[in-house]
Amino acid sequence: MDRVSTIVRSRIMGSVGSSHTKPEMIVRRALHAAGLRYRLHSKQLPGKPDIVLSSRNLVVFVHGCFWHGCRRCQRKKKARSNLDYWLPKIARNRARDRANENKLRRAGWKVLAIWECETRSPKALTAFVKRVARTPVL
Ligand SMILES: [Zn+2]
Repeated sequence: MDRVSTIVRSRIMGSVGSSHTKPEMIVRRALHAAGLRYRLHSKQLPGKPDIVLSSRNLVVFVHGCFWHGCRRCQRKKKARSNLDYWLPKIARNRARDRANENKLRRAGWKVLAIWECETRSPKALTAFVKRVARTPVL
């Protein structure tokens, strides 16, 4: 643990057990503003998707960039040595994310994911909301 800088550690602590993180709130607000209705954190579904749009058979994951290993953000990271310490853990999270997505798809769900860094870009967020809205209602 000594090798982990305060910044990295606080980022990790901030993402542990995060059911109502800020990125997720941003996505929920944006979906709601577009008239899209959903329920939250379906515990019965693989990976406990953050947002479930049952009428569209669609689940949404809001991935924290650090914890789920966003490639775009990792590339920008300066503290490579600190990051390397966590890479095996992050790789396991990514593998688990993919396994959960596959399970959901096999069960007939459509799966969309948005990264934390995308929630901070109005353009990316709008594009994501459009993708959700384009998913047909069953
Ligand atoms: Zn990112």
